[in-house]
Amino acid sequence: MRLDSPAQYLFGRTACSVLERFLDRSTLFAFDLDGTLAPIVSNPDAAGIPGTVRKELSVLAGMAPVAIITGRSRPDALRHLTFPPRFLVGNHGAEGLSGWKAREKAFVRAARDWQRQLDSLIPADQRRGIVVENKGSTISIHYRQAENRKKAHTMICRAADRLVPPPRRVRGKCVENLIPEGAPDKGAALKLLMRQAGCSKAFFAGDDETDEDVFRLNHKRILAVRVGRKNDSSARFFLREQSEIARLLREINRILGRS
Ligand SMILES: [Mg+2]
Repeated sequence: MRLDSPAQYLFGRTACSVLERFLDRSTLFAFDLDGTLAPIVSNPDAAGIPGTVRKELSVLAGMAPVAIITGRSRPDALRHLTFPPRFLVGNHGAEGLSGWKAREKAFVRAARDWQRQLDSLIPADQRRGIVVENKGSTISIHYRQAENRKKAHTMICRAADRLVPPPRRVRGKCVENLIPEGAPDKGAALKLLMRQAGCSKAFFAGDDETDEDVFRLNHKRILAVRVGRKNDSSARFFLREQSEIARLLREINRILGRS
């Protein structure tokens, strides 16, 4: 899908036939997890995929390959999925891709090293509301629970600036993600999965900054949708809110069921 006009509401009058024209059984269906399949909740451990979404996903998985590409680690994501997807890529693309095992070990070493450095860069007594989560191949520093989020974010950025070697940093919703240089992002992961699945097309839905790596691909065989409108997003299509995912999946299943 080419990026040549402002983002369109996927269920709006001008865009509503786009799914119909694009999707078929040669399509790989990839989804982000938090904020996309599952609503964002203040306690990430409590995140869950609503029953209607789960039901539609399992119908879809019976007709086409389904991939989950998430910022969570794979074991963590599996706890929140009630079905095993055909592909599960964790750590924003840096975990679980075939052919990347050896390099993943280097990412894990880098993350462990940053965690050690962060222990002294953000001392325990200044961590109120800040959680450093080592997810294996990457690190996420959460500050949703911080009393003053702006102040917490500034402190996190100052610490991240001093990390050696410097990580690729991607800011998310109340989270700063630290990603090893050279690790595949979600865009690279999706292209690899298409090859692996033998799919010439892909559909993708995501809601956050790391999903922009897919939106920016501007790939004519990838239809990507952002959950939630954002002016500076590269996504060509958007849904207004996370709750519309159930309708989206119903539409996809209706279209595939016919073809
Ligand atoms: Mg997300």
